[in-house]
Order: sequence, then C-alpha cells, then structure tokens
Amino acid sequence: MNPARRLIIAVDGPAGSGKSTVAKLIAQRLNYLYVDTGAMYRALTLKALKVKADLEDEDGLGRLAKKTDIRLKHSDGSLKVYLDGEDVTAAIRTPEVTNSVRYIARAKPVRAHMVILQRDLGKDGGVVLEGRDIGTVVFPDADKKFYLDASFEVRVGRRYQELKEAHPGITEAEVRDDLKRRDESDINRSLAPLKKADDAISIDTTDLTIEGVVDKVLSFIKA
Ligand code: C5P
Repeated sequence: MNPARRLIIAVDGPAGSGKSTVAKLIAQRLNYLYVDTGAMYRALTLKALKVKADLEDEDGLGRLAKKTDIRLKHSDGSLKVYLDGEDVTAAIRTPEVTNSVRYIARAKPVRAHMVILQRDLGKDGGVVLEGRDIGTVVFPDADKKFYLDASFEVRVGRRYQELKEAHPGITEAEVRDDLKRRDESDINRSLAPLKKADDAISIDTTDLTIEGVVDKVLSFIKA
C-alpha cells in the first residue's frame, strides 16, 4: 500500500459487533479521522426529543436536521459530540435516545441530509467511517469495507457491560430488548438497511478479542 495515499475505510455492522471500538482504534493506528455516524443520528434524536418534534413526521424531521448543527470533535484521543454548540457526548447514550433513534434513522429526508454531511467529512480520505450503511450508501466506492458481526448473546453481553457503568439501573433484559428492536428496524427498514456490502470483508468477532479484530482489519488494509 502506498502510505501517502489516505484511504476511505468503511466499517458497518450491528450494535455490539465491536465496530465502534475497532473503528476508533484503526483510526488511531493509521492517524486517520474517526467518524461515528451513529452519534450523528443520536444527536439529532436528542434534539427531536428536546423540541418535542413529531417523530412520525419525516418531512418535519428533515427540516429539523437542516437547521441543527451537529459536530464531531476530537480531543485528547476521544470523540466529543456537539449539538448546536453543546457537548452532548454522554446525553446521546441514554436509553431515551436509544429507544427513539429508529424514528430518526428511518426518515428519508434525514438520511439524505446525513449522507451529505458524512460524504463531506470523508471526501479527502484518511478516514474511518463507522455505521450501518457506509459501505452500501455513503461510500459505495470506499477503498476498504468491513462488516463486523457477532452472535446475538455476545452482542447483548458487550452492550450491557458498556452501559451499566453509566446507567447502573439498567438490566440485561432491557439491553436484549433494545438490541432486538434496533436490529429489526435497522435490518428491515426500506431505506439504507443494515446490510453487508457485496464487496465488504466479513469478520465474525464472537470469539475474538478487540486486539484480534484490529490486527485482522489492519492486515486487510495493508494487504
Ligand atoms: O452505532 P449506534 O448504535 O450508536 O447507532 C445508533 C442508531 O443509529 C442505530 O441503531 C441505527 O438505527 C442508526 N444508524 C443508522 N445509520 C448509520 C449509523 C447509525 O441508521 N450509518
């Protein structure tokens, strides 16, 4: 690989597949920009809840998206999410936001707007974008595409471990229900569903450590 060429790398997969952690580490190792597209959908969801928008009104949500400022900022090795200038990094991870994000993610005008923002963030290369539709819709010509997955129970366990620190009251059953609902709506929505791109490299992370997945992804990138 020509080290001077800065690639566009797409990492897709369901919640709990390890894609966020892996995408972040890959970006760090390559000194690339890391773009968490799920955080963008979450930030708009938070805004919609704040302004009590009608979550069934797709056009209204599209208008809201256009007048909302969502920024991903990197500081001290971590990613911070800003909504209209306010740091919402923690606020976008609450169960309320997680439960409502599917309304935002299925709205056509919202997705159209997000795709424009995401293409702009990635256009110069040197970027790892992570989400559900990066390899299929946002960057169908990405230089490298990965699709991470893991067994449902392992994904539930990972999400539970991640969430219980910030939300001590949360139960594993709640996490299981949330994942089931989001998987269903991500996979079955008509627009930009969660799906492996035909030319993506599939990695089953069920029995792999994070380091194991990172090494595997890096070996494909360098190949
Ligand atoms: O990645 P994360 O689980 O934070 O994403 C939150 C939600 O945003 C997902 O459940 C999905 O509905 C939506 N999403 C999407 N397209 C993306 C990234 C996330 O629809 N590219």
